[in-house]
Amino acid sequence: MSEIANNKVVSVHYTGTLPENGETFDSSEGRDPLTFLVGHKNMIPGFERELMGAKVGDKVEFTLSAEDAYGEYNPEAIQEVPSDMFGDITPEVGMILESDMGPFRVTIVNDGLITVDFNHALAGKSLTFNVEVVDVKDASDDELSHGHAHGPGGHHH
Ligand code: ZN
Repeated sequence: MSEIANNKVVSVHYTGTLPENGETFDSSEGRDPLTFLVGHKNMIPGFERELMGAKVGDKVEFTLSAEDAYGEYNPEAIQEVPSDMFGDITPEVGMILESDMGPFRVTIVNDGLITVDFNHALAGKSLTFNVEVVDVKDASDDELSHGHAHGPGGHHH
């Protein structure tokens, strides 16, 4: 039976919780399993490392440090920008918007001055994952050359 290793396409069900309070931040429950190509930086670093060698049916639980997950919180990734930079959009606290520099969250709206945070919402947090391996297969040549998994039927995404 194949084991999880680099260049395998792996499907897992997972639930991610915050060890500090047990809150679930993400889960594949009720959805299709998460499918990814191992060894091509499609996942946060610790996630693949902890699953190496696992087989279909294995259940794995692990806790990652922030460094192995979404990185340390960077206070310099907080910026204040004038609201007219948002064009037609009226910024509201909690909005997640895209920019040339990547996605950011609106954290403070103060008349004409908007505070935005480029940190990932999970930056600076350690994360616990409960993972069940549902499929492990060899990647196709297309998947290897593209560096990501293709869905059922080989459709492109
Ligand atoms: Zn592709």
